[in-house]
Amino acid sequence: MRLRIGQGYDVHRLAAGRRLVLGGEEIPFDRGLDGHSDADVLLHALGDALLGAAGLGDLGEHFPPGDDRFKDADSAGLVRTIVELVAARGLRVVNCDLTLIAEAPKLAPYRPAIRARVAALLGVGVAEVGLKATTNEGLGAIGRGEGMAAFAVVLLSDGE
Ligand code: MG
Repeated sequence: MRLRIGQGYDVHRLAAGRRLVLGGEEIPFDRGLDGHSDADVLLHALGDALLGAAGLGDLGEHFPPGDDRFKDADSAGLVRTIVELVAARGLRVVNCDLTLIAEAPKLAPYRPAIRARVAALLGVGVAEVGLKATTNEGLGAIGRGEGMAAFAVVLLSDGE
C-alpha cells in the first residue's frame, strides 16, 4: 500500500456584502470572504492538499482565478472535481485535518455541519475529517479581522 501526504494553505480577505462560506456551509456573519469564486478558504486549502498529495499541481492551475467559468464558483464543486482526479489516479482519501484561523465568528456551532459536508465531498466518514479553529490572538491582518486563513493536510492511499 502506498500512502501520500499533501498540505494546503489559503487566505482570503473579508468584505462587506459577501456571503461567508466555510467548508461548503453558509455561516451567518456580517461580512464574507472575497474572491473570484465563493472564496471558501477551508475548501481551497483542502483542494490544494488533495492536489499536492496526488502530485496533480495546484488549485490555480486547474481553476484559474481569471477564468469566467469559475466566477462565483461553488468551491464544493471544485473539490468534487479534484476528488475525481485523485480517484482517476487510483488514490482515495484516508483522512484530512483542517485548521481555520479567524478572529470571528465562533466556528463551534457549525463544526458538525462542516465536517459532515467535507466528509461527503471526500467520500469518507465524519471521523476522518478533523476541523479545528483558532484565532490569531489579535496579531497581524488576520488578528485585526481583515481576513481568514486555513491550513489542510490530507492523507491518500492506493490500497483498501
Ligand atoms: Mg482561495
